[in-house]
Amino acid sequence: MKFYRCEVCGLILEEGQLEDHCPKCNAPREKFAELDPETAEKHVRSEYTNDLYANLIHTVEKLERIADAGINDNLDPSCVKIFTRTKAYSKLLKQLAKAEVAGHISKGKW
Ligand SMILES: [Zn+2]
Repeated sequence: MKFYRCEVCGLILEEGQLEDHCPKCNAPREKFAELDPETAEKHVRSEYTNDLYANLIHTVEKLERIADAGINDNLDPSCVKIFTRTKAYSKLLKQLAKAEVAGHISKGKW
């Protein structure tokens, strides 16, 4: 499968998705360059992992909302302690996941 990157905004599309203009930045089709095989392989290989990180971030955000509800509920100190820890761990996991995805992007794994 062939992939093309918009040289203006970086959007990557499959061959069948190309239109007259970039759907993100409106650059003309001529601004799309085919990815070399190594870069295309990185793109394909990393897509699943990046989707997993997106799902992880979404799931962690649910944990943060649960933790906030538990802290606000304030049933007793041991409960608040668990929910406070949950919130702290969730924040750390989210930041780790975002940093990893940023690292992927900087290495062309996107
Ligand atoms: Zn573009």
